[in-house]
Amino acid sequence: MTKIDKYLISREASIYEAMRVIEKGAIGVAFLVNSGNKLCGVISDGDIRRALLAGHHMNSRVSKVMNKKYVYARQNDDYSKIVNKLHDYIKVVPIVDRNKQVVDFVGCDKNARIPVASPSLMGNEYSYLTDAFLSTWISSTGVYINRFEREFSKFCSRKNGVATSNGTAALHLALVALGVGPGDEVIVPDFTFAASANAVLHAGAKPILVDVERDYWTIDPLEIEKAITPKTKAIMPVHIYGQPCNMAEIMKIAKKHKLFVVEDCAEAHGAEFNGRKVGSFGDIGCFSFFANKVITTGEGGMCVTNSEKLNRRMRVLRDHGMSLSKKYWHDEVGFNYRMTNMQAAVGCAQLERIDENLRRRRNLENRYKKVLSKFDFVKFQKDRSRGKRITWLVSVLVGGKRREKLLDKLASQKIDSRPFFYSLGKIPLYKKYLFSNKNSMDISAAGINLPTQNNLNEKELDRITNAIKES
Ligand SMILES: *Cc1c(COP(=O)(O)O)cnc(C)c1O
Repeated sequence: MTKIDKYLISREASIYEAMRVIEKGAIGVAFLVNSGNKLCGVISDGDIRRALLAGHHMNSRVSKVMNKKYVYARQNDDYSKIVNKLHDYIKVVPIVDRNKQVVDFVGCDKNARIPVASPSLMGNEYSYLTDAFLSTWISSTGVYINRFEREFSKFCSRKNGVATSNGTAALHLALVALGVGPGDEVIVPDFTFAASANAVLHAGAKPILVDVERDYWTIDPLEIEKAITPKTKAIMPVHIYGQPCNMAEIMKIAKKHKLFVVEDCAEAHGAEFNGRKVGSFGDIGCFSFFANKVITTGEGGMCVTNSEKLNRRMRVLRDHGMSLSKKYWHDEVGFNYRMTNMQAAVGCAQLERIDENLRRRRNLENRYKKVLSKFDFVKFQKDRSRGKRITWLVSVLVGGKRREKLLDKLASQKIDSRPFFYSLGKIPLYKKYLFSNKNSMDISAAGINLPTQNNLNEKELDRITNAIKES
């Protein structure tokens, strides 16, 4: 395929096929060509959304909705003349040769915002979602719920999956199902997203925030041992930024002290330790399917477990505490933490492409590495022995004051990035739960997540890496 072919689509194609070409091409438009391969229109994702609202269908011909008054330029036109054709609503101008065949394009990517993450939804997501919608099973019963629970738990090598409304609900449900409550302590890493600690607090228990390993950013088993008291009931390892925790040591400690283990796998779908998937070590593994996670259902989460007893308990608690065998009979106060069939439909389609998705993320991290490894102020996330890390968001450390300069530089060029999570112990709200946070503070002060959407193009990558070099 030549460079330009991936942006071309036949005028006979469907809107759906055009959406796929637009997503893959990642320049926001596709160029329509006739049977002689001559340019005959341009279509953007915005044109398609407006066409659908106006009553067209995904299988309508793209030629029916294409922009016929499109703008293009000729090969020997003056560059400044071509650039002048770009404005707010014309983001890309195709350039054609004497036969009106597309040979290149000019885009105003200098000014376009680069998001830190954006989901890829152009597999079977639209078909399954429409199917769930048209079936009228739009709440929390339906074939996609069952299928998503079955297939995702299998992906994690667990027997049972309990889908939830979000990842925080999954963590809370897991803790309550294990009987964690007032008077109990749960050991949580100090370096994590606040939802991990919040779930413990919602359960009425006390999070104990312990330091992480300097090299891998995951909870430090030695600190766990130090923090154990007679009140400790559970450990919540967090596989942060795709890095698997040292589950061999953690499970050893849990066994020795008879503690439960709830894994927070929200950022690590598919990561492994000792050849085993995260989520399959503890009593319960909890996942999030928020839009920026490895796979998404919009909002959503899941608890996976091999225990039949915990599976049943979580199903009861998820649905108002209602008995599974006796309708409207409640033995305890539960929640409504259900996922909808429509969300699960999206999840099923996402799961079909999870391996490809993980490959692309890793590939992108390697593309960043190739350019940035020359600069010794940028340190990429390390791989631990016995672990198989996944790339969630490309995560790097840039020491000291340079981090703030870099964040500003990226922001000034409309490049989205994220500073790492704060050490929770540094936040007044959580200070009283702090046990230790030396490494956590250093990592937090130096880390940045770089844009990691799956279809970042070469020009965007150049823009980002140039901004980093100049910072
Ligand atoms: C995203 C995330 C969660 C919470 O998931 P939600 O679906 O947003 O509730 C929990 N823990 C970690 C580490 C996360 O990154």
